[in-house]
This record gives sequence, structure tokens and C-alpha cells, in this order.
Amino acid sequence: MGKTLIILTFLISITLFSQEKYVLVVHGGAGYIKKNSLSPKKEKAYHDALKLALEKGYEEIKQGKSSLDAVQEAILILENSPLFNAGKGAVFTNDGKNELDASIMFGKTEEAGAVAGVSTIKNPIIAARSVMEKSPHVLLSRAGAEEFAKENGLEIVEPSYFFTQENYDRLQKIIQAEKEKTSVSTANPDWKFGTVGAVALDKNGNISAGTSTGGMMNKKWARIGDSPIIGAGTYANQEVGISSTGWGEFYIKSVAAYDVAAQIKYAQTPISQAVTNTLNHIKELGGNGGIIALNKNGEIAMQFNTPGMFRGAITENGKILIEFYGIE
Ligand code: ASP
Repeated sequence: MGKTLIILTFLISITLFSQEKYVLVVHGGAGYIKKNSLSPKKEKAYHDALKLALEKGYEEIKQGKSSLDAVQEAILILENSPLFNAGKGAVFTNDGKNELDASIMFGKTEEAGAVAGVSTIKNPIIAARSVMEKSPHVLLSRAGAEEFAKENGLEIVEPSYFFTQENYDRLQKIIQAEKEKTSVSTANPDWKFGTVGAVALDKNGNISAGTSTGGMMNKKWARIGDSPIIGAGTYANQEVGISSTGWGEFYIKSVAAYDVAAQIKYAQTPISQAVTNTLNHIKELGGNGGIIALNKNGEIAMQFNTPGMFRGAITENGKILIEFYGIE
């Protein structure tokens, strides 16, 4: 009996010691990301962008800055890259425009900010943070959000800044298929989600989460997805932070990000089980996508029910983990 107890204690301490403490986790979207769907060159480009986002965010945490700064810095890198469906690489609406959404939340105070449907703000994540810090509101949209960003000195660009040939060509393919009444298979690398998100834990133990996107390609009627909706695309409290990516309508209906947090808060569900439960529910409803989460102990979950998700995390010692694919 005594011997068993000693062995058990030994095993538990190994598990605890070997458990890495993560301080930042990012995603670059979930979708049809399969091993042979990316060229080695593209694979490297995605890897480098995720690595840079993790390093920049980590730098903030190492310097003792707030998790909000880490989330903002990591997302800025991904917004400025044409590879992801956020900022520069935003997908097109049906009428050939780019309408961007973003949100951010600070877990300690549960303050949040978001923008939706903006076309001239270079970095929507900064705008979301400004809404949180400099306005009495949580979510600003379209021309009003742009006016607010201008008044607050944020970088404004011509809508053409968001034009990328690759995304424009993808849109044409979908529009053509719609005309021919054929459907474009979502099992195609051309149809990929690529929203970005980050969750960070700072030295004061505070968690922040943020998400930024161009939404879903070919969207119509000023459609807004889950990414700027607090509780769906983004959520953070004192225990956990969450960022979602995937078919936004289902994330709104399942209140996905808050669903993860609620399980942890009210039922003490372990973080990865909570994320699994939420993703299973989304699947039951007919949706798909992924979720990243980070809790106050530095435990992470990076899960998806699509073939892949661009994702990465960094430990308090700067050890980087980057993965794209699921089990194939
Ligand atoms: N969730 C985003 C939206 O529905 C899209 C994505 O994550 O790729 O707007």
C-alpha cells in the first residue's frame, strides 16, 4: 500500500513537472488544411508567420506587459500577412469588397471591445481594443466604427489595401459556380477559413483573448460572423481565454467561446474536455471549425473538427510549438 502510494505520488509529480506552462496560443484559422494541400514554400510561409506572431507576443509577456499587449502584437503580425483571412488577407464579399471584424477581451475586468464590417481600418484588432478602452461601448460597426478609428488616430487605408489577387480569384470561382448552380466543394484548399486569434497569460496572471477576420468568403447583406461577437468568437475571464474560428453562424448559435468558459466556471470541466464538448455541439448543429483556449495554469487546448487548423503556442520558457494538420 505504502509502496503504491509512493509510486503514485512519483507519477503525479512527473506529470506535473513535465506539464509545460504556456503563456500564448494563436490560431490562423481552421479548414481544409491537409498535408498535400500546401506547397513546401507555402507551408514554410505559414510556419514563419505563426512563429513571428508567437515571438512578438511572447516578447510583450517577457517584458512584463499586459496579456492584452501580447494578444494585440500577435494578431497584428497575422493581420499584416496576406496569408490569413484577417487584415491584409481578408476574403471578399459577394460584391467584391472586404469587410473586416475583430474583437478583444480582458479577462481580469471582463471588459471587451469589437468592430464589425469595417473596410478602411488597417488593423481591426487595434480598433477593437480602442473601442474597449476609449468608448463606452462594446461593438461598433461599419462607417461609425471607421469614424471612431479615425478620431482616435488609428491607421486608415484605402479599401484597395485589402485586395489580394488570390482571394479575388477564389471569389470569382465561387460566383461562377453559383451561376452554374453547381456547388464549390468546401473540401478544396481554395475554400479555407483563415481567421486569426490569440490568447495570452501575463506575469500578473491575467488572461486576454482576441480574434480578427475577413469573415466568410462570398458573404452577402453585410453579414457579420462570430468573430466580433463576445461570447461566440472571443471570451476571457480570470480563469480562461478562448478564440474561435470556423463557420461563424454555428459559433454564434452555440455561444461557443462562452460555452467553453461556462463549463470551466460552473462545472470545473478540464479545459480540453470543455473545448471538445463545445466542438461536438457545433458539429451536432451542422457546423465545423476550431477553438483555442488557455487557462490561468498555462494549460492549452487547440482543437478542431476540420481537417486542419493553423495553430501554435509558446511556453513561459520560449519553447515554440507549431502545427497545421490533424491526424491523417
Ligand atoms: N468565424 C469566421 C466567420 O464566420 C470565419 C472563420 O473563422 O474562418 O466570420
